[in-house]
Amino acid sequence: QPVLGVLGGGQLARMLALAAAPLGVNTLVVDSSADACAGQVAPLVVADWTDYAALEAFAARVDVVTFDFENVPAETAHWLAERVAVFPAPQALAVAQDRLAEKTLFRECGLPTPNFMTVDTREQLDLALVAVGAPAILKTRRLGYDGKGQFRLREPADADAAWAALGAQASKHGLILEAFVPFERELSVIAVRGRDGDFRIWPLTRNWHVDGVLSMSLAPAPDIELLQRRAAELARTLAERLGYVGVFALELFVRDGELLGNEMAPRVHNSGHWTIEGAHTSQFENHVRAVLGLPLGDTGARGISSMFNWIGDLPDASPILQTVDAHWHDYGKQARPGRKVGHTTVCAPDAGQLATRLAGIAAALGRETQVEPVLQALD
Ligand code: ATP
Ligand code: MG
Ligand code: MG
Repeated sequence: QPVLGVLGGGQLARMLALAAAPLGVNTLVVDSSADACAGQVAPLVVADWTDYAALEAFAARVDVVTFDFENVPAETAHWLAERVAVFPAPQALAVAQDRLAEKTLFRECGLPTPNFMTVDTREQLDLALVAVGAPAILKTRRLGYDGKGQFRLREPADADAAWAALGAQASKHGLILEAFVPFERELSVIAVRGRDGDFRIWPLTRNWHVDGVLSMSLAPAPDIELLQRRAAELARTLAERLGYVGVFALELFVRDGELLGNEMAPRVHNSGHWTIEGAHTSQFENHVRAVLGLPLGDTGARGISSMFNWIGDLPDASPILQTVDAHWHDYGKQARPGRKVGHTTVCAPDAGQLATRLAGIAAALGRETQVEPVLQALD
């Protein structure tokens, strides 16, 4: 049986392992923590990214290596790629690890981005605020996720506070100042490219974030017929430029009906979790198929689906378990403020029935505010 190696043992690795099993593929996970949640469903090697003895033994046990964690150091990814097939390739990973490289690539591929400028010193922050304007967001170029490593500036006078928060990161990871986009909607493209170049995308997903963290998704995103083809073309161009193999997500803003590129994630993505029950083939299964060189599965949606993220702690499961075509995912992680500990996907044959199911769950859990924007979009 083929063995899939996964770098990082979070919920993405856990869901990859669960999707790999029916394909007859075993999974072996590496994480620096012995209680990484993927370890509950797949064997786990406990090692950090510079433990080359442990990584050598890991490489010898797997047929292909992929990522749950996009910030595996580039040196580690390159070192592994000399020993075993690694997908996506370390060069593609490197672009997605750096907001400057990523935005530069977007523009080269014809996808505009919010105005931005790199910032390495306090003086450059003032210059960037003049060039980019306010409001703006200062972000670390590397290692940020779930809105961490970001500071929102309402006006130029917020520069001191922004520098106090992130200035120390400037020499280590670099910073980038981005114009704040008053977008109408946020969308993501979940795409997959096989080893043979076969390329597919799932229907576009509409996303809602709270404090920089994904709160809810809805797919297929309503009223996006005009954007679907353009988004697919852009995602394909990006994937081909990078020689990308596997699933990736492209996060987009819609402003004045036009697409702007926010960032890409070189892996399966939270906004694609709905595909587990809501699509003919899930992002996890297609990622496993892609990296192993198997034919890709159909990415069409079954009906319409919405996902809730459970952040901090899990709610009562019973209203979800009692709802038709609603699905409970507990990642087996310890509760902690801001941590993603599970999600729920609710599927339905049409928008009206989805709204009814969502409203019922929200009322039972006291989560009316969380679902409100989704109900509006379904209206
Ligand atoms: P992820 O967990 O998606 O990797 P991240 O920490 O890399 O998150 P971003 O995707 O850059 O962060 O930002 C998180 C969210 O903050 C975005 O999805 C969006 O809602 C908001 N945001 C980020 N940049 C901008 C911007 N330039 N203008 C408006 N909103 C923004
Ligand atoms: Mg990100
Ligand atoms: Mg993001």
